[in-house]
Amino acid sequence: MTAALDTLRRVFGYPSFLGPQEEIIDHIIGGGDALVLMPTGGGKSLCYQIPSMLRQGVGVVVSPLIALMQDQVDALLQAGVRAAFLNSSQDQATASAVERRLRMNELDLIYVAPERLLTERFLGVMDHLVGDNRLALFAIDEAHCVSQWGHDFRPEYIQLSALHQRYPGVPRIALTATADHLTRQEIIVRLGLEAARVFVSSFDRPNIRYTVVERGERNLSPRSQLLDFLGGHSGAAGIVYCLSRKKVDETAAWLNDQGITALAYHAGLDAATRQRHQQRFLREDGIVMVATIAFGMGIDKPDVRFVAHLDLPKSLEAYYQETGRAGRDGEPAEAWMTYGLNDVVIHRLRIDESTAGDEQKRVERNKLDALLAWCETAGCRRALLLRYFGEEARACGNCDTCLDPPELWDGTIAAQKAMSAALRTGQRFGAGHLIDILRGKATEKVRQFGHAKLPTFGAGADLDDAGWRSVFRQLLAAGLLHTDAQAFGGLRLTDAARPVLKGEATLSLRKQANRVGGSAPAGGRPGATTSLAPVDARLFETLRAWRADLAREQGVPAFVILHDKTLRELASRRPASLPELLDIPGIGQSKAERYGEALLRILA
Ligand code: ADP
Ligand code: ZN
Repeated sequence: MTAALDTLRRVFGYPSFLGPQEEIIDHIIGGGDALVLMPTGGGKSLCYQIPSMLRQGVGVVVSPLIALMQDQVDALLQAGVRAAFLNSSQDQATASAVERRLRMNELDLIYVAPERLLTERFLGVMDHLVGDNRLALFAIDEAHCVSQWGHDFRPEYIQLSALHQRYPGVPRIALTATADHLTRQEIIVRLGLEAARVFVSSFDRPNIRYTVVERGERNLSPRSQLLDFLGGHSGAAGIVYCLSRKKVDETAAWLNDQGITALAYHAGLDAATRQRHQQRFLREDGIVMVATIAFGMGIDKPDVRFVAHLDLPKSLEAYYQETGRAGRDGEPAEAWMTYGLNDVVIHRLRIDESTAGDEQKRVERNKLDALLAWCETAGCRRALLLRYFGEEARACGNCDTCLDPPELWDGTIAAQKAMSAALRTGQRFGAGHLIDILRGKATEKVRQFGHAKLPTFGAGADLDDAGWRSVFRQLLAAGLLHTDAQAFGGLRLTDAARPVLKGEATLSLRKQANRVGGSAPAGGRPGATTSLAPVDARLFETLRAWRADLAREQGVPAFVILHDKTLRELASRRPASLPELLDIPGIGQSKAERYGEALLRILA
């Protein structure tokens, strides 16, 4: 057995490596540089933790989030690994004590905030260590923070290339879950990793089920749709994303009225409240966080069971990142989104009216179009998502369009009617007004503009409002119509519309979904107790309660003690002895020593 595998089993309690972990670990132990591109939940941490333990000296981990460092170090301490962190949340005495342990060779891993790393003081400590050959490696976590275009940009990250100049003999490993090619290129250039070996994993997250429901489907209000969805996830932790702070506050308050423990998170709350809410989300079981995208990077909680979007995200990249926070532990999780015509209009106008340059606007429009096409697709959502990131993929069987394929119909004539309604009214009106005309509703506005006399008036009585909204959305998604900021969001035809308008091309549209309850999987949604027999579910709850008490006592998040996945295995396999307990994934020697007796008592 290799030393790496032995460490994996003994310390972390896992039987085997995942994907490319072993190759990466070997490469770093051998002194090579690496760029690791792996999705969230892929197991990036072990790629630097194990080499840090096996190489001589201490592994220095640069991590952008202070709150996260603490949890990561707590998790390592639970596994019996000698780890510590240095950041601005500590007082001078604590920091000095950590530095002393560093000099005394008492640490295998040190987590450091980037601004701390590059201080003269810490450089001095590292100079001292490197002289004795006691710097094991540099790990640069969340390496996409060097990208000036992303919203996780950290100016201090740019300076990290200095590490290589100062300590050329120390291997570096940069890690990120970003799927976006431009950002990857930027990381290589900015960190000087041209010679590093690049490890790219598939970005598929097979345990996440994707579902998009039309807002207002089955005449439900968006809130009832959300409540319906949450009903299938009772007791589970999840995130509900909204676009505005106001909507976050209102949605959180409303959910609490419905008996669901929900907290709000957005940049308008003071730092202390944000911190408190984040801590509760991490530490307590089953909390729903209603948030803007300010709640984001570094939500290292492995058991987030769902991410719901009440508003359209900015792009597919953003959607992938935001939904990627679900199911880090590999257990079933759900990405669910409501989507409506309004979203399209709001986002188009936001781009048009922004102060960005033309080139930037063009890029943003293209990204929005890709997202809309994804929302409206009749094909597999996962396959389309992966293809967008340059990966080939087949239909997955775990998204709404695979599980419940939408019907297609020939929408050519409907599209012609919709577009001629726009043309004949001067391309100045939004979908609502055009639908009134098509359906022959002589509203005051229709009469005022003389639109009741148009040949298209009443030409679309064969579809209802929802049917027409779906047609307009798909025309927008397919790029045949666009919203015109100059005309207050009026719909205009694009060049791509001509062939359809003239009857030279046909257009296939997806039928108005009429699904009952979205696309709940046959076995129910992934709640907290997925796939357990009833008696095991009770045991699982007992274990969770025991873990919650311990977590409170020790002041650490519950998942730092044992993951849900491990509790679930315990509940279904019911180990009766210490060796059997050590066979459970996630229980290494240190955890068996700490919790073995108590667990065996509960399971007896
Ligand atoms: P990432 O940083 O890539 O999002 P993590 O390092 O947090 O991923 O790991 C994700 C989850 O997978 C964690 O719960 C971790 O304990 C688990 N994990 C990592 N490696 C293994 C392995 N070899 N076998 C089983 N579980 C693993
Ligand atoms: Zn699919």
